[in-house]
Amino acid sequence: MKKYEDEYRHKGLRRRLMISLQEKGISDQSVLEAMGNIPRHFFMDLAFDQIAYEDRAFPIGEGQTISQPYTVAYQTQLLEIKPFDKVLEIGTGSAYQSVVLAELGAQVFTIERQRKLFDRNKSFQYLKKYPGIKFFYGDGFEGLPTYAPFDKIIVTAAAPQIPPKLAEQLKPGGKMVIPVDEHHSQRMLRLTKQTDDTLTEERFDLFSFVPMLEGRVNGNGNNQ
Ligand code: SAH
Repeated sequence: MKKYEDEYRHKGLRRRLMISLQEKGISDQSVLEAMGNIPRHFFMDLAFDQIAYEDRAFPIGEGQTISQPYTVAYQTQLLEIKPFDKVLEIGTGSAYQSVVLAELGAQVFTIERQRKLFDRNKSFQYLKKYPGIKFFYGDGFEGLPTYAPFDKIIVTAAAPQIPPKLAEQLKPGGKMVIPVDEHHSQRMLRLTKQTDDTLTEERFDLFSFVPMLEGRVNGNGNNQ
């Protein structure tokens, strides 16, 4: 069996990708450094080894994708992560975004609704390097009331609207970065919770995400 290794060639491609993200407007050096440390090809099927460092989304199974590096960098930059921030991520997928957050020193709680994707991460050896990341199989619309409140919330699927339970689970002063449906794409929003519990909204660019769906999907592909 072919093994995942982080070769000189991968490192070179990764450096080039970070330069291109910078050229596209990503300016937060800590985000670029974190992403520069993470072998993205480990998170994808070996068949994609050669093209893991193109600025593109790729299939990861179950009809889902690993987000485009630019999108990961963009959302992470908007979150303004500080070490020890308690961060809730909706849509674990490949776990790439979770690892970027962990590299920045965040305490990561991440939820995935697809059982197969959740199970796959349990046997993903590279994640042993990040024992602090807490993985949950569940419906992101519910958030994680037991672990709330959070300093930051990041949604990595297209939300039909701002999920009220996620807004509730944000600390005062906390921020949520979420792509919300607007015609055929999604507007990236950053919401900041005020001390009176209202949210202020900042609007950013349009993106294209897979949909955020209600409920969970079990190992047989059935909705629950
Ligand atoms: N952050 C991921 C991106 C994966 S794509 C990465 O870095 O690879 C979005 C993911 O959100 C998919 O895996 C999809 O199954 C999941 N998803 C969609 N709706 C969800 C919900 N309500 N709760 C949890 N996960 C959800």
